[in-house]
Amino acid sequence: MFDPQQGLGLDPRMGFESQIQEALQELETAGLLRRPLRISGPQGPDVEIDGRPVICLCSNNYLGLAAHPALAEAAANTAVREGSGSAASRLITGTMDAHREAESAFAAFSGAPSATLFSTGYAANLGTIQALVGPGDAVFSDALNHASLIDGCRLSRAKIHVYRHRDLDHLESLLRRQRGKARRALVVSDSLFSMDGVVAPVSELASLARSFDAGFLVDEAHALGVFGPGGRGICAAEGVQPDIIVGTLGKSFGVAGAFVAASENVVSLIRNRARSFVYSTAPPPTTVRAALAALPLVRDADEARQTLLTHAARLRSGLREQGFELLESQSQILPVLIGENNRTMRLSAELLERGVFVQGIRPPTVPEGTARLRLTPMATHRTEQIDRALEAFALLARQK
Ligand code: PMP
Repeated sequence: MFDPQQGLGLDPRMGFESQIQEALQELETAGLLRRPLRISGPQGPDVEIDGRPVICLCSNNYLGLAAHPALAEAAANTAVREGSGSAASRLITGTMDAHREAESAFAAFSGAPSATLFSTGYAANLGTIQALVGPGDAVFSDALNHASLIDGCRLSRAKIHVYRHRDLDHLESLLRRQRGKARRALVVSDSLFSMDGVVAPVSELASLARSFDAGFLVDEAHALGVFGPGGRGICAAEGVQPDIIVGTLGKSFGVAGAFVAASENVVSLIRNRARSFVYSTAPPPTTVRAALAALPLVRDADEARQTLLTHAARLRSGLREQGFELLESQSQILPVLIGENNRTMRLSAELLERGVFVQGIRPPTVPEGTARLRLTPMATHRTEQIDRALEAFALLARQK
């Protein structure tokens, strides 16, 4: 008989600790242990690691706004005038002026009637999908969707149908077979896939969703600020108005948080049902006003967008010339396919030694056997920095 006083005769703390240690060891052996580097000072085109400036080619700070003085000033002034905290969930302590102003600005930016804020993009995707579909419903999700969309689908407890990456025929056949069995249905996709840099066929996805009476949710996280008129994203570039747009504020907008833009009804249901909205402290006014300060800068950044894509093109052709295998990206996100996890991380470490900060991306973020170096230039890099990065890669290429 199990005696709870005696347990299994083990020191329960030691038992748990050693199990955790074992789990870490397994990650280490598989080349999957992650150790964030220590950065001093602001995020920018170069960052300081261990007292040494290195060229940063791995951030989503695409327009360089993360350390822009206008955003810092907005955050600082807001902290003085409105405080640094939002005190509780919006359903408890209410909507502050900063939230209201930002929501109406981001709704207008997205061409939607309404919008609601979340503290992170992860929370936005998690809560939005779970708010809009549930048991008895169906969600149709691209195989390479971001983890936050996948987790939103799982949390919703709707039936999940994963269609092959960007495969419209597969999606259509799933909709034909499965749509009739579900009450509500939602098609969910990234607009610009974060680890591959390719664009979703948003126009065709929108038509398919409409013809099967399904909602269409697009995550514009990596496209916002980079593509479309005024940086409004891929859907705006294609003239598509999805039912729900998720935009994140921690990438091109240089701050943190997210907005979900949609109809008044969709936004109301999200505010009532999204667990990550209902049960989470609202974004602080400081970050909300910093993101609002970023909005006109993002809208007017056509020249910066051009520079960013020119840098990406220079990196892409330079690396291909050196013999690196680049996946077929159509954007500022450049995946250099390496394959094996430990080799990928070794190359990342060697690049860092040569003054270039590039992250290795491993499973489960990307499929097994497709570990890669993911390069993302910024509009604020100088061409000379891009060329120095290419020189560092050239040294690696010679050692291959
Ligand atoms: N969607 C996509 C496509 C992302 O890449 C990310 C994060 N990198 C998120 C959502 C989550 O956004 P956040 O970082 O604001 O939580």
